[in-house]
Amino acid sequence: MLVVHPSSTCDVCLDPYSWATPENTPHAIACGHIFCRSCLHLILEQRCPLCRKAFQEDRIKKLHVDQCNAPNDEHQNRDREYLSQVSLCFPEDTSDEQVNGVVGEVHQWLATRSDDSCMTLKALRAAVEGLHKYKLLIVENLRDKNMIRKHVRAVHELREDNRALRAVENAAVLKCTELTEQLEKMEQDCAALRSERARYHAELTRLKHLSNPLPPPPRQIHLERAASLTAPSSQSTWTTPAAVPSYLIYTQRPDGSYMQGPIAPEPETAPVLREDETQIRSPHR
Ligand SMILES: [Zn+2]
Ligand SMILES: [Zn+2]
Repeated sequence: MLVVHPSSTCDVCLDPYSWATPENTPHAIACGHIFCRSCLHLILEQRCPLCRKAFQEDRIKKLHVDQCNAPNDEHQNRDREYLSQVSLCFPEDTSDEQVNGVVGEVHQWLATRSDDSCMTLKALRAAVEGLHKYKLLIVENLRDKNMIRKHVRAVHELREDNRALRAVENAAVLKCTELTEQLEKMEQDCAALRSERARYHAELTRLKHLSNPLPPPPRQIHLERAASLTAPSSQSTWTTPAAVPSYLIYTQRPDGSYMQGPIAPEPETAPVLREDETQIRSPHR
């Protein structure tokens, strides 16, 4: 089916074709050009205004075409107006209130429109959809930027932690080196002490095998038994260790040999005798 766009006009009178009156409907002549019927009737020369070919009035053909249901100019003007408003919402600094207001208004307008053949309507629909996607992308972009900033901060903190850990590690390595050196020194001291101990041990063995010039030490007896032994003529019994005459006391020297009497007899008080240090020799043994 052939349709006539609402913007189509007669090339003579420049009026849009109209189906309201038969005079303004499109009519074709022999050359194929189309004009409104009133203009063809008014042409005196019977020649086509465009190609100058002759035509006969009785052979003018009425065209059976349909009128396009495209939106009228008012609708298109509103489409263009909304299109410009939508285009003004694309900058990033446009407030959400402004965007939501325009989008809501356009959606209300689009709900009243059902003609998909109108180019301005298609452009308006595409622009609103594009604006919606663009605003979503801006929100996602903002969220991604925040996420990136957060990750950058985390990386920065990790670097700081890593730096601190390296400082601790270096200090620990230094301390470990210091302790290792101390350990080596202590091991050297220990080896020296061991050799010294071996030397003392050898000296002690040598001294043990030396012949003791003193007579063998007397057998140890208890002081209680000493009273039963034969005492010297002047004193036959000793009831306390302090009463034992010094010439009967044998004291062990630090080198193991024995000497007669206490090492350092006290002038006022008698030496305190211990049972394991005091040897009492019977004068008759
Ligand atoms: Zn005309
Ligand atoms: Zn013509």
